[in-house]
Amino acid sequence: PVRTRFAPSPTGFLHLGGARTALFSWAYARHFGGTFILRVEDTDLERSTPEAVQAILDGMAWLGLTPDEGPFYQMQHMDRYREVVANMLADGTAYYCYSSPAEVDEMRERARAKGQKPRYDGTWRPEPGKTLPPIPSDRKPVVRFKSPQEGTTGWVDMVKGPITFDNSELDDLVIARPDGTPTYNFCVVVDDWDMRITHVLRGDDHVNNTPRQITILRALGAPVPEYGHVPMILGPDGEKLSKRHGAVSVMEYDRDGYLPEAMVNYLARLGWSHGDDELFSREQLVAWFDSQHLSKSAAQWDPKKLNWVNAHYIKHSDDAALARAVAPRIAARGGDTEKVDLTQVVALLKDRAETLEQLADGAMLFCGAHTPASPELATQHLTDAARTVLKDFATQAAGLEWNRAALSGLIKATLAAHGLKMPQLAIPLRVAVAGATQTPAIDAVLEILGKQTVLERLTSI
Ligand code: GLU
Repeated sequence: PVRTRFAPSPTGFLHLGGARTALFSWAYARHFGGTFILRVEDTDLERSTPEAVQAILDGMAWLGLTPDEGPFYQMQHMDRYREVVANMLADGTAYYCYSSPAEVDEMRERARAKGQKPRYDGTWRPEPGKTLPPIPSDRKPVVRFKSPQEGTTGWVDMVKGPITFDNSELDDLVIARPDGTPTYNFCVVVDDWDMRITHVLRGDDHVNNTPRQITILRALGAPVPEYGHVPMILGPDGEKLSKRHGAVSVMEYDRDGYLPEAMVNYLARLGWSHGDDELFSREQLVAWFDSQHLSKSAAQWDPKKLNWVNAHYIKHSDDAALARAVAPRIAARGGDTEKVDLTQVVALLKDRAETLEQLADGAMLFCGAHTPASPELATQHLTDAARTVLKDFATQAAGLEWNRAALSGLIKATLAAHGLKMPQLAIPLRVAVAGATQTPAIDAVLEILGKQTVLERLTSI
């Protein structure tokens, strides 16, 4: 059975790259009816605050990426890592190294001077027939993994294809610090083993860690998962995506009025494809997701396309659900969502909104305080002739059954009676009831504003 994991280091928020890897790991597990695990890599105690962890959980919940197992926290597995270190010391796959940090620096310097890759020189590495230096009494040792020195370590990457490293390039990795705490790559290895992870999808900044993790897994006699390294996300200018390009935290997109379904759809296409399909549901993503169509080249963040996708999801949202989603944003603008039928408002506006924020802006026409026409607009559009027509319109409207069709009929009848063209009535009407020359369809605007409000505004000009 397929078991995948998302293993974020809490850094204060769930960023777009992390969200995308989480999505891919989730979709892969779902596609195969497998298990998706959330593992919080919280061993960096300075950065891993409870708030930072919560930010990741919030981001995942917002995107609907519910783990089947977890969240697990590496800080709660410390005993287990120590146990594995002890086992490795006992079976000789790891050893104590008493070289001081300064000595290791010197070794690296010497290698560099010889034109070699900087590395630990193996002073404390036990070999048959080798005599180790006397143990210094004033030092606590680190534990190093006894890495294979000959041959190669490779894997067939699910994204990048075959990758091979010469084992001579991998020096003996520190797996436990002098105080006994395990190091990053080691924790990953033990957890991937214990959690029986079958497929690791992660950012390609981890490619260099993979041969180290594989060699340790082999030394432990643990199965080696499949690895897929996803290229990073670039900004529109081709540079690595960063704050300079705008919001990089998933929850900022929530704040800015993006729908989680739109975000999932957009992120899925960022580095994965299914033919020419740009718009697909979560269910289709799960049904179609495969590693063959993960892109080998970096994906580019495209805010315009994200807006296009978001506009699509807004347009196809259920009106009542959309009304609920936008109501708090209207309230935040000081609007009154009880004043009108919000479902009608969003039904009218949703075809043109790229974000919920835009939708809320538009809804203020109905939920906000009335802005009467400016003197300039009034002089230009509320001429004596226009006022006469509006007065006639108001008189007829007073007896009207209030719905869009009836209002549309009355508008046409008024145009005919006064020998006018549409803009000659529609614009003064807009200026009178909305204080603006442009609004959505005027019959719909009048319907939603309601008879009482419309008549009040028409008679107070
Ligand atoms: N914790 C790592 C990160 O946030 C990911 C580790 C992994 O996926 O193996 O970059």
